[in-house]
Amino acid sequence: MGPAAPPGTDVDDLHALLTVQERDTQADQLRHRRAHLPERARLDVVATELANVEAEGAAVTAERDELARRQAELEAELADLERRTADLDRRMRSGTVTAARDLQAMAGQLDAMKRRRSDLEDADLEVLDALDPLEKRVSDLQDRWAALDAEAGELRAAIAAQERVIDAQLAEVLEARRQAAAPVRPELMATYERLRQRLGGVGAAALVGASCGGCHLTLSAGALDRIRRLPPDAVATCEQCGRILVR
Ligand SMILES: [Zn+2]
Repeated sequence: MGPAAPPGTDVDDLHALLTVQERDTQADQLRHRRAHLPERARLDVVATELANVEAEGAAVTAERDELARRQAELEAELADLERRTADLDRRMRSGTVTAARDLQAMAGQLDAMKRRRSDLEDADLEVLDALDPLEKRVSDLQDRWAALDAEAGELRAAIAAQERVIDAQLAEVLEARRQAAAPVRPELMATYERLRQRLGGVGAAALVGASCGGCHLTLSAGALDRIRRLPPDAVATCEQCGRILVR
């Protein structure tokens, strides 16, 4: 970035306009750089991945919670069964039940309870086997989320640091632009701004030899001749692109 033109320089306003154009172009480049920092693109990718990991994590966690709930039910039922089995066992051994038929019925009940217990234990093992890989996936997703979140934090810090630098440069360029614009006639400035908006940010260009510095086309001999005959403060424009030509 070149140094700013000092205020009150002794250039006519057409030449001052070229300096304004230079500063505007610098400012546009800075704004473009600020908007297109590579970290910003990476942050978008990371944010999308974070959202995906969160969605997957929510689904896997729900699956895990459902199995954990099932496991708790099985274990509660097992505990209840164990208690009832122990009760029955105690009653059978207590000697209060003496009828052979009753004791036989109780023994049958005890057998049924043992079979039920075996079934419940099998189901419990199955649930535990299914839970294991889910716990691992939940934990992996949590790790992945934490890594992405840390990267997002670093990217945001890097973006903020670069924004601060660019904003300081931009403030300098805009101040230099303000100073350069001071001697420019208001109507010339208005024409320039209108052209700049319409023509991709370039409203004024230098006449370089016989070429327009804006569109880089060569002017016709007639156009060049007309421009040369203009009084020094008259505004010339390129016959091809319409930009203000500073000679
Ligand atoms: Zn042109």
